[in-house]
Amino acid sequence: MSKVYNFSAGPGMLPVDVMQQAQAEMLDWHGLGMSIMELGHRGPEFQAVADQAIADLRELMAIPSNYHVLFLAGGASTHFAMVPLNLMGGKKTADYVDTGIWSKKAIAEARRYGNINIAAGLEEERFISIPPQSEWNLNPEAAYLHYTPNETIEGIEFNWVPEVNVPLVADMSSMILSRHINVSDYGIIYAGAQKNMGPAGINVAIIREDLLQEPLLNTPSLYNYKLQCEHHSFYNTPPTYNWYLVGLVLDWMKRKGGVSHFEKINQRKSEKLYQFIDTYAEFYINNVDPSCRSRMNVIFKCKDPVLEPTFLKLATEAGLANLRGHKLLGGMRASIYNAMPEEGVDKLIEFMHEFAKKYG
Ligand code: PMP
Repeated sequence: MSKVYNFSAGPGMLPVDVMQQAQAEMLDWHGLGMSIMELGHRGPEFQAVADQAIADLRELMAIPSNYHVLFLAGGASTHFAMVPLNLMGGKKTADYVDTGIWSKKAIAEARRYGNINIAAGLEEERFISIPPQSEWNLNPEAAYLHYTPNETIEGIEFNWVPEVNVPLVADMSSMILSRHINVSDYGIIYAGAQKNMGPAGINVAIIREDLLQEPLLNTPSLYNYKLQCEHHSFYNTPPTYNWYLVGLVLDWMKRKGGVSHFEKINQRKSEKLYQFIDTYAEFYINNVDPSCRSRMNVIFKCKDPVLEPTFLKLATEAGLANLRGHKLLGGMRASIYNAMPEEGVDKLIEFMHEFAKKYG
């Protein structure tokens, strides 16, 4: 089979090296004659795998010692509920920034647990820019401020960090480990693994120690940050194989040169793709304000939408897979996470060039 570049938004492409290692170790992990998947989570073998993944994440993100790291079953959406359940406390109100469809989902879930103030964002407007913080309506009494640094569907990304006096909570699902961040700017960071960290079914949460408190009444035990931290994510059986795979991805990242290495390549990959789209503005469109174009999810349309099914068909035939945009937006979306090599973006640009020449 000829080479395929997978531009899926998530679950997304995994590094080939990681898949090969997982394949090689599948039936016989470290000479034990068993898969890591078959070992008890409380045994020394899996404990070592789990500890190493946490240590590697701490190293890659320079996570300070006053933050807990949880690896939990479920998706990023789990935290849409966990954040308000655990942080609302006596306050009963929280601020949310609404920059896209994932923000909206987080807001809808949080509304089940308290009063939600939309500090910024316009309900009906298409999301192509981020309102500056000077225009936000922040509530000083809020339990926390929640925002989505990268909106996976709309392809918009903050290149600045909100400055607030309440704990800052960030859904980093589609940009975690893609660029340097200062963990101390945040109260809680969470992310589903299936874009930059591994397979679906596991998520990570990085939680500042002082934010651990008793959750709202009737919070399920598994949704209790404090309890999960006390048990180091082992309150029940964690998703062991996924945790192992995340560990392989983190180890691969370290060997490649860490976040700095990927940040550089991600910047280059996204810049060349946007530059190409802008140069071919007669044929391809990206309406996102250049100050907040996502480095991870590059959305674009053909000026003539009739051409899009042909674009997608021919792209797939050329080994450029999963470029179809989200169903709510249509068009195309190239998700270019850490595992996407630069040559994949080069091939995409080459294809887009040929397509525009032929159909333009
Ligand atoms: N937040 C963001 C920014 C996402 O991109 C996604 C998934 N695409 C989610 C949350 C939801 O993640 P999950 O399906 O793992 O719950």
